Amino acid sequence: MSPCTRPIGDADLLDWWTSDLASGERRRVEEHLLSCGSCASRAEGLRELAEGIGPLVREGSLPLAVLPAVVERLRREGRRIREYRVSPGGGVQCTVGPEDDVVLSRLVADLRGVARLDLVSRVDDGPEQRLADVPFDAAAGEVLHSPPADLLRAQPAHVARLRLLAIDAGGERLLGEYTFNHRPWPGW
Ligand SMILES: [Zn+2]
Repeated sequence: MSPCTRPIGDADLLDWWTSDLASGERRRVEEHLLSCGSCASRAEGLRELAEGIGPLVREGSLPLAVLPAVVERLRREGRRIREYRVSPGGGVQCTVGPEDDVVLSRLVADLRGVARLDLVSRVDDGPEQRLADVPFDAAAGEVLHSPPADLLRAQPAHVARLRLLAIDAGGERLLGEYTFNHRPWPGW
């Protein structure tokens, strides 16, 4: 598949799926998709997401790593988003409120030149869990991680450690480690 020189943005693709584009924009996107295999395949990848964002949030099963366009979309729908931004090597005190729909961790990382990214997480002394090949927007300089809000609400105080690994032919390269000191909502 030949790479696209003028790719349609994720936000536009999501809006296209949900029929939220003005007709002129809609035509522009459709003409492009007809002639561009690269964008057409990205559009296909976003279809499930576009159709299911609302239900996914309600079920607490939004994909753990999300693209910026998804966050824009959730904001526009009026979802309550609690955000934490953490730099490599950094940590944060975090919680989740009774009304929060989405908890969003912004993991800052230098993503230039990264082709594949894995996210490894560990809660207290538990086993490591690896999410392979997570979606990211290299230009954003951060990876968006969204643990299910309901799951978090049910959890006692704990320390979650996340690591971002760039995977290439040479092996793994650590981009950053991020520590979340979680406490239940005060008064719960
Ligand atoms: Zn294209």
